[in-house]
Amino acid sequence: MDKRTFLKTSLLAGTGALLSGAAFASNMKSKNESVFKQKALKYQYDALQPHIDAQTMELHYSKHHAGYTRKFNAAVKDAGLESKNIKEIFSNVSNYSSGVRNNGGGYYNHSLYWEVMSPNGGGKPSGDLLKEIEKTFGSFEAFKKKFSKAAATVFGSGWAWLIIQDGKLKITQTSNQDNPLMDVTSGKGFPLLTIDVWEHAYYLNYQNMRTSYISAFWNVVDWKYVAERFAKSKA
Ligand code: MN
Repeated sequence: MDKRTFLKTSLLAGTGALLSGAAFASNMKSKNESVFKQKALKYQYDALQPHIDAQTMELHYSKHHAGYTRKFNAAVKDAGLESKNIKEIFSNVSNYSSGVRNNGGGYYNHSLYWEVMSPNGGGKPSGDLLKEIEKTFGSFEAFKKKFSKAAATVFGSGWAWLIIQDGKLKITQTSNQDNPLMDVTSGKGFPLLTIDVWEHAYYLNYQNMRTSYISAFWNVVDWKYVAERFAKSKA
């Protein structure tokens, strides 16, 4: 790529990253690099124990998520989508290959999932987010119950979400690697919180007991980060 093309690409990619409002889904690139990069985890593999075990974290991040990221970049290249940001790709995903849809979702969803968890997580949110949760669901406990039920009842592999839809909080589910930013999804919106309920997210530690994993998940939710996303969605 010559200097001029590089500058143009960088500028477009930079604008895309800003518009996407998702720092972890950066598509800044330079020559010979992948467009979408797997961001480093903000904690060690064993940091979420005993709620999420180190082996699950390591396989999940270094095999599953790395695989989605690699295959997404290949699918993006095949489709000539290198100049598009993640939001643009998802909002037109029905027009692209299943490779773009499945691996793009796998890339993005896991990036968010790592970010909404923290070894210092748990408890409950405060401030505006707590107020909005109480207004929408009646109480924080009622919200937890409803989100847990949504996660427990995803049929097969998928995700549960807390999103902002038309300015309101909503709990939704998606199958496989779909997400609320995709045009193929019925529950569209801006994702604030998510939980991966694919068996690979819990089977080593919890076997078939998905509900035990969901209960444990509440101990690692990074409400500070979720509240930042909430604030950003209002901006
Ligand atoms: Mn997963």
